[in-house]
Amino acid sequence: MRKKIVAGNWKMNLGYEEGISLFSEILNMVNDEARGDQQVIVCSPFIHLHHIAKQSANSAVVSVGAQNISQHDAGAYTGEVSAKQVKSTGADYVILGHSERRAYFAEDEKLLEIKVDQALKNRLKPIFCIGETKEEREAGDFWDVLSKQLKETVFHLSEEEFKQVVLAYEPVWAIGTGLTATPEQAQEVHAFIRNEIANNFDQETADATTILYGGSCNPKNAPDLFAQADIDGGLIGGASLKSRDFVDIIK
Ligand code: PGA
Repeated sequence: MRKKIVAGNWKMNLGYEEGISLFSEILNMVNDEARGDQQVIVCSPFIHLHHIAKQSANSAVVSVGAQNISQHDAGAYTGEVSAKQVKSTGADYVILGHSERRAYFAEDEKLLEIKVDQALKNRLKPIFCIGETKEEREAGDFWDVLSKQLKETVFHLSEEEFKQVVLAYEPVWAIGTGLTATPEQAQEVHAFIRNEIANNFDQETADATTILYGGSCNPKNAPDLFAQADIDGGLIGGASLKSRDFVDIIK
């Protein structure tokens, strides 16, 4: 009923030619192995977007996304890239709320709420990330942390708008560390998130929301994670930089 998605987050990796050739490999391998209910999204640096969006324009399975947008519409904001500009490349998605942007670029809930609105206004679908730090998990109060991260960024949306959002649970302690949440730990949080969605919107909306797991996901651990009832796929960092690993995860 809801889409299964594997999204790659290339982060700040790959030169122009490297990105183009990795994407070609992925596109060829995925189209060979595609199934109807699957969606694959590659979130590249801005420099690759236009080219790879064109390459995949006819693919029913593979889409392209950015990793950030400006909170502003247009104008004198040196170095920024707007949602409208990203959309004009042919991209359909944008990662927002990633813990690296929260930690290194001071993106807080207030700013993220504006960016979510900017994305939707420009017909970009947010892949919205939430997750607790190691300290928050150990302190035991991380349910409140996750709840706040949702409430203050995406729960103001109408049901129609919220249906455009893909959520990703990414425990900060698992990102790029080789430490993965166990399937049980992840499932517990995903079920909690779905319940929060049902409470804020309704059960139908909750059941229709794709919730991805992210954090050191690889071809070995993906099958057990993705077998959980409330885990609908993954947001993949490191392993999305190797076509074979990424496609194995998709499979
Ligand atoms: P990782 O990154 O797979 O390298 O842990 C995931 C992410 O940050 O989206």
